[in-house]
Amino acid sequence: MAAGANACAAPGGSAAWIELTVRLALSDAELVADALGALTAGAVALEPRIQTSDERDFAYTVEPGEATVRAFLPAPLAPRERRALRRRLTTLPLRGSLPRLRYRAVENLDWSELWREHFTTLRIGRLVVHPSWEPANEGDALAISLDPGQAFGTGQHPTTRLCLAAIERECAPGDTVLDLGTGSGVLALAAARLGAPRVDALDTDPDAVESTRENVRRNGLEDRVHVARGSLHPERGVVEAYDFVVANISSGVVCELLPAMGRALRPGGRLAVSGFMADRAQEVVAAARGAGLAEVAVEQDEEWCAVVARKASS
Ligand code: SAH
Repeated sequence: MAAGANACAAPGGSAAWIELTVRLALSDAELVADALGALTAGAVALEPRIQTSDERDFAYTVEPGEATVRAFLPAPLAPRERRALRRRLTTLPLRGSLPRLRYRAVENLDWSELWREHFTTLRIGRLVVHPSWEPANEGDALAISLDPGQAFGTGQHPTTRLCLAAIERECAPGDTVLDLGTGSGVLALAAARLGAPRVDALDTDPDAVESTRENVRRNGLEDRVHVARGSLHPERGVVEAYDFVVANISSGVVCELLPAMGRALRPGGRLAVSGFMADRAQEVVAAARGAGLAEVAVEQDEEWCAVVARKASS
């Protein structure tokens, strides 16, 4: 999902845009990003893959191998124009062949401010997520006051709603929780409000870490939510440390990190992952089963999905 992370200088205005993404070797990605920058009136970002390098403080390094190019092009983009764009990119001196270009319509790119108009109070079971500039109702015991700043996560996105619902249903007071890809911290705060005495909130994006720290302070939950920049190591790292793990990132990152998430869970612990559409759900289900998780189920909100699962008790 476009998480605001690593995002480019987003063009303003409320016009609809087409997001183009393509993942390829870093040197080829640089060529493609440069060419798209010259060809489009929109913005282009180059997002390298990251690799965690330290199991204790979740630090990570940028991987030399592959990167994602993300470009925003003014809509509409007719099939003829898409074909012309592809033809133009195939003339570049790329080392490998040009992979499939993925397109997605984006309504509104000026997310730094315009999202505020769409951020209204949200209720999920006992949880109430409200914008920091609107007061909570008295009596909303489980209220979360949020200002996402530049980070992703007002609670309005279907994937966030799915994760909030899973947390509300499954998180018991006393559970220790890992929120991987915390964004604004919304899921970590929800778990803490529901009684988790310790929530580790991790994100690779420094803006997200900053937003989460502010939101944790705003909600007076500094003693419960621990925020750090980083991620889980795909192969090493924490073992049987959490009762609940949530990650709302993307099917690619989720599939890659599911074995690590499985290891990080205590026996009997539960997991909820999201950040993907229905067409990727079975891939994530398979990755969850491959990671040794049981009771794997798919939940859906609009065209978005979450996969929930449990680690066997012994
Ligand atoms: N949890 C929030 C935000 C989800 S957006 C919500 O549910 O609304 C996904 C977040 O994951 C972004 O902030 C992004 O920076 C972060 N992210 C992406 N890849 C990651 C990785 N490998 N490890 C940890 N965080 C990652």
